[in-house]
Amino acid sequence: MSNILEITALTKNFGGLTAVSSLDLHIAEGEIMALIGPNGAGKSTVFNLVAGVYAPTEGTIRFKGEAISGRKPWDLCKMGLARTFQIVKPFATKTVLYNVMVGAFLHSGTTHKAREKAEEVIATLGLGDLRDRLAGSLTIADRKRLEIGKALATGPELLLLDEVMAGLRPTEVDDMIAIIKGLRDRGVTVFVIEHIMRAVMALSDRVAVLQFGQKIAEGTPEEVTRDENVIKAYLGG
Ligand code: ADP
Ligand code: MG
Repeated sequence: MSNILEITALTKNFGGLTAVSSLDLHIAEGEIMALIGPNGAGKSTVFNLVAGVYAPTEGTIRFKGEAISGRKPWDLCKMGLARTFQIVKPFATKTVLYNVMVGAFLHSGTTHKAREKAEEVIATLGLGDLRDRLAGSLTIADRKRLEIGKALATGPELLLLDEVMAGLRPTEVDDMIAIIKGLRDRGVTVFVIEHIMRAVMALSDRVAVLQFGQKIAEGTPEEVTRDENVIKAYLGG
């Protein structure tokens, strides 16, 4: 299986702070990979680097074999790399359908095509009953689903999900786990940042653990949760 994403010696400094330090990480096509670690470990910065929000200080990022370091989010999205944000910001005064169509326009030349794509995504995510509701009136769980829908409508091959389970009830977490597994079954490679360990264990093929910008462990969920360095990091030792 080939790697859809290859991160090599990636470093990001903010002034004197090294948020990400010499990170090596790869994701194989079709995998669900999780990035975990304490608050401030550098997880969102890794996503921002991969998604083109920040340019790396050093190192390279390859997507589908092509160096993408320094490319802009919009160009990456056209290449098939989409993300959700930790802070969810839909167009609150527009409908669910409208919000998803915004993403769908990327590959669909006409309103008709964009609408078709949006309807397909809405059905995939079980948002059908909410199609005509204003995004601002949705519950947190439905907003998170809409956020995934907006990203999914751009037709990604690699989807980055930043804490899409935060604030959800246990049954909503179960629904989200099923949704993400369903995306993978449809051929999307998924890279998640997630704090809810139950979800990490249920979802991930592999997990990488960051602490102070450095990768301290990598392996199956079972392997990393047994790892002494990981246990120490989470206990603050
Ligand atoms: P995580 O997502 O793991 O909680 P972040 O990647 O958000 O961690 O942050 C890693 C470190 O980088 C933190 O110390 C944070 O304060 C810092 N940081 C993140 N983004 C910026 C920025 N744009 N400017 C300055 N410092 C930043
Ligand atoms: Mg974060």
